[in-house]
Amino acid sequence: MFEARLSHFSRASLGDSDLIKAARAARLNAHAEFSHFKVGAALEAADGSIVTGCNVENATYGLTICAERVAMFKALSDGHRQFRRVVVVADTEAPTPPCGACRQILWEFGGDLEVILANLEHETGRHRLSDLLPLPFDARLLK
Ligand SMILES: [Zn+2]
Repeated sequence: MFEARLSHFSRASLGDSDLIKAARAARLNAHAEFSHFKVGAALEAADGSIVTGCNVENATYGLTICAERVAMFKALSDGHRQFRRVVVVADTEAPTPPCGACRQILWEFGGDLEVILANLEHETGRHRLSDLLPLPFDARLLK
């Protein structure tokens, strides 16, 4: 009965909500002493695990790492190798998409992920990674 009722809702939507909440929570851990621009990310692995990340800034600036890459590297170090979606949350009205470096890393390890953008109130955008990185450089070119 419960299953039947659940089928009236999009399971993806329920999952989106969990992922967005996880990214918002991760954002609170951001170490953004210099930019004060806090970002949270939540990556959904193929087994349903959620791995989060936040941006971590550094006094050299150049060693700063974005939330998306923190999430991906955490997930890889935990043994995950397949992924479905990533959520990126920032406190902006306009969508905050992954930067170029993050697009490359997400593509390399996650493939054509669904990329969901949100702020503290609502979703602000939804894309395929292949739309954000239309002509990627990747391992196929090294063969
Ligand atoms: Zn980035």
